[in-house]
Amino acid sequence: MAIRLTVPKESASGERRVALDPLVTGKFGQLGVTVQVEKGAGEAAGFPDSAYEGASLLDTEAAYSQSDIMVRVAPPTVEEVNQLPEGSTLVGLFHAHRHPEVVRAMQERRIQSFAMELIPRISRAQSMDALSSQAAVVGYKGAIQGADLACRFFPMLTTAAGTIRPAKVIVIGAGVAGLQAIATAKRLGAIVEAYDVRSATKEQVESLGAKFLDLGVSAEGEGGYARELTAEEKKQQQDALGEFIAQADVLITTAAIPGRESPKLVPEDMVKGMKSGAVIVDLASEGGGNCVLTQPGETITQHGVIIHGPLNVPSQVPLHASEMYAKNLLNFLTPMLPEGEFQPDWEDEVIAQSVLTRDGEIVHAATRDAIQGASS
Ligand code: NAD
Repeated sequence: MAIRLTVPKESASGERRVALDPLVTGKFGQLGVTVQVEKGAGEAAGFPDSAYEGASLLDTEAAYSQSDIMVRVAPPTVEEVNQLPEGSTLVGLFHAHRHPEVVRAMQERRIQSFAMELIPRISRAQSMDALSSQAAVVGYKGAIQGADLACRFFPMLTTAAGTIRPAKVIVIGAGVAGLQAIATAKRLGAIVEAYDVRSATKEQVESLGAKFLDLGVSAEGEGGYARELTAEEKKQQQDALGEFIAQADVLITTAAIPGRESPKLVPEDMVKGMKSGAVIVDLASEGGGNCVLTQPGETITQHGVIIHGPLNVPSQVPLHASEMYAKNLLNFLTPMLPEGEFQPDWEDEVIAQSVLTRDGEIVHAATRDAIQGASS
């Protein structure tokens, strides 16, 4: 019997994405697998059931109980894991440290789980990199939200009522999200300046037509990521940054350090020094935020500054975020499905590093240590 690949309707609150769009569903069909879609799965992303040609449409109970491989966006609940056949496969974004009970449920049910966020960021795996595809959505939408909340135009306008100066946007953190925020703010006509602790980003920032703010602090870490700053470096960074930020109409922050809380780069005094009516879009809200005043999930005004702390931004551009994520899944799973059979090469580093649970074990070491450490 052909492998049954299932696309559920996402159950996490507010999640509008779906793991596979109709186009990629068809491509999985060409690999020889049977694709099953839970009724209504793509509706919130803009894909009605009728668009999933060639896929079987199932009720919730059948979608779970008849699945060999389930692909999803957000983590399942424990109840959902328990509805899956024992020993079946689950692929998605798990953020295991935030959902230890789900990891334990998958372990007990002997589910083979692959976490898309654990795929190593090597050249060969770029087309599978869901962190990058979704971060690009975050950066784009963050710039749009900044423009929307601002009490001024982004572009320069020459009108009969006078000439309006362009807005100044400052982006902190020029990784995937930051670069997309820069590009989007530039397209909207703003003057853009950006800063990152990794000096390699200077060239990337400048290639987008933005000015790189050199604060004299560099903190290259391992694997192309940033490292945490020392207390002295933090002080130097904040002193220099404050002067620039006081000029910003919109400040977009995206700074992150893997596996840590978002670094706090914008203290209350810096907010007090900002222009009245300025906007902070804190795209690091998921990890607690880069501004000390950010309330994740809320939009507040403090000291005359609007502070926006959006959560699950990719879900706010659900159609394209889903299409990009679906391509990541297709590129990740295709080598595991030769002739439509599920045969992962466990020696392959992309597969080996992305396994979360298998054969009743928590395979990912950091997750295992965190979960077993917490329960001992
Ligand atoms: P991220 O989300 O972990 O962090 C966002 C940015 O915040 C990074 O650019 C980081 O340098 C910056 N940052 C951290 N602390 C800061 C501070 N105190 N002040 C200012 N900025 C700070 O990053 P990301 O977008 O996931 O990308 C990180 C790296 O991974 C980049 O080098 C990127 O090119 C690389 N990458 C590689 C691949 C691949 O090869 N498949 C894919 C995507 C990204």
